[in-house]
Amino acid sequence: MAELTFFTGAMDSGKSTLALQTNHNRQARGLTGLIFSAHDREGAATVSSRLGLTHDAIEVSTGFDFWQFTADTLASGRRIDYFICDEAQFYTSAQVDDLARIVDDLEIDVFCFGILTDFRTRLFPGSARLVELADRTQVLQVEALCWCGRRATHNARVEDGAMVTEGEVIVVGDIGDPAAQGRVSYEVLCRRHHRRGLTMGSGAAARARLHSHGATGTAGSFGGISGPAFPVPPPGLEAARSGVAALGLARLLKPGVRQSAHAGTTRSSAGGGRARGRDLRPAHQPPGARRHRQYRHADGGRR
Ligand SMILES: [Zn+2]
Repeated sequence: MAELTFFTGAMDSGKSTLALQTNHNRQARGLTGLIFSAHDREGAATVSSRLGLTHDAIEVSTGFDFWQFTADTLASGRRIDYFICDEAQFYTSAQVDDLARIVDDLEIDVFCFGILTDFRTRLFPGSARLVELADRTQVLQVEALCWCGRRATHNARVEDGAMVTEGEVIVVGDIGDPAAQGRVSYEVLCRRHHRRGLTMGSGAAARARLHSHGATGTAGSFGGISGPAFPVPPPGLEAARSGVAALGLARLLKPGVRQSAHAGTTRSSAGGGRARGRDLRPAHQPPGARRHRQYRHADGGRR
């Protein structure tokens, strides 16, 4: 009985490696398959694994007709036991419908590999359809890790060194080069850091600021971040992080002060707080002073 199987996981979780291993195992048993991919990092018509393995593939463009292609291939007398479908998140839902039909009507096993959600945390159409139709959906066990050491579950798009949450869904970029300037790259993050927009690059910038201010910080002391990996965002980190992170700190240390911390981030002038998204520190106050005040505040709400 043929099956439609969907293997999913974050970037860096070994999907393409498993796709090529699945192909190898079946070939070794005398089975014949076809390999498909779309927008592979190495270019069109290729499946490439970050471990260095590559294999030729049939490129699945938006207009590619799986059903017609398969019918033509079988009509030419070629045998097909299985499909390996990499980067399946980029397939259209109609193409996934065709794959299910190929499983049911032609008894061809289809193994799909893909990311569930895009950089905006929304399901890719192809992945959504696979979740709806697959006989089995398996989350890969190789865990990708966020820079903080937590399990990475979300994909961040980084443009010119900054995380973005709007734009075209499909923009192929580099992976593992978050500091890339002038081009798009992707980075895997835990949900917490995806929500805060804290990529590895912004964490490194934060560390540099922290050191230049002569302050010290330890992992686990700020915003609930724990684990040995540094870069710990300092309290002085500007932009939206400042308000959000301060809120996280207050919530972590003393749930009761959440309300006042929140008020501090939204109130326009009182208490030294300014508009959210900007540095909360009054102009006359040195960085250390603000940090100190914030910790005291979080500790016991003394103010
Ligand atoms: Zn993280």
